[in-house]
Amino acid sequence: MTPAVTPAVTPADRQRELAANLKSVWARVEKACSDAGRSPSELTLIAVTKTFPASDIELLTELGVSDIGENRDQEASAKVAQLSVEWNEPAQERVRWHFIGALQTNKARSVAGYAHLVHSVDRPRLVHALAAVTEGRATPLGCLVQVDLDPSPRPGRSGASAAEVPAIADAIAASSGLELRGLMAVAPLGEDPWRAFERLAEVTATLRRDHPEATVVSAGMSGDLEAAVANGATHLRVGAALLGSRPHAR
Ligand SMILES: *Cc1c(COP(=O)(O)O)cnc(C)c1O
Repeated sequence: MTPAVTPAVTPADRQRELAANLKSVWARVEKACSDAGRSPSELTLIAVTKTFPASDIELLTELGVSDIGENRDQEASAKVAQLSVEWNEPAQERVRWHFIGALQTNKARSVAGYAHLVHSVDRPRLVHALAAVTEGRATPLGCLVQVDLDPSPRPGRSGASAAEVPAIADAIAASSGLELRGLMAVAPLGEDPWRAFERLAEVTATLRRDHPEATVVSAGMSGDLEAAVANGATHLRVGAALLGSRPHAR
């Protein structure tokens, strides 16, 4: 017997699939906004393309998506390089790159080279590394302090505790090459995201007393964007609901 052959997915098929996913994600965002009395224009949708090829980023830009999220420098810089060649201009001109993953200090220079916003600034050492590689820049690098919302933090966690946020925020604000833009968080596994994002809204309110310019709240993923919109998110980081499920959980 001949084994069943999966027909190859053409770029046109993939484009249709991404367009349909984009439409349903925006429908969810609009519903969540109307429930929360907010306007969809307050929300930036970041397509999280980790593990998916650069060709998907290209298709997404053709659909009007201009914010792309990646969580690993090696993968992100390869896609930036590939798209810069294809587009014959720096890929940062067409796409705002959001770095959303754990960041080692030795990758600070590379990430600062293409990122529009680094969402995962969670310790003073990383602030200092980013400050050192951005000093004297004409346009400062946007930074979000990543907050760990887990009430019982695990070792090796990502994100600062709420108590650590002010010092990290002050260090960013004091660096000439960096701009403090706000906060980022991931809802802890096993907890109602509504409760977690309520705590994030409190941390945000506290931060804004000292730093009124810190207006960005990056929260909400495929599974919990409604809870994030209800609790003041300005930036949603959506992967699976737009791109499909990833081959390996990451
Ligand atoms: C992968 C990832 C996302 C997207 O998650 P989905 O569930 O695929 O929408 C958002 N934020 C961070 C930090 C991620 O690593």
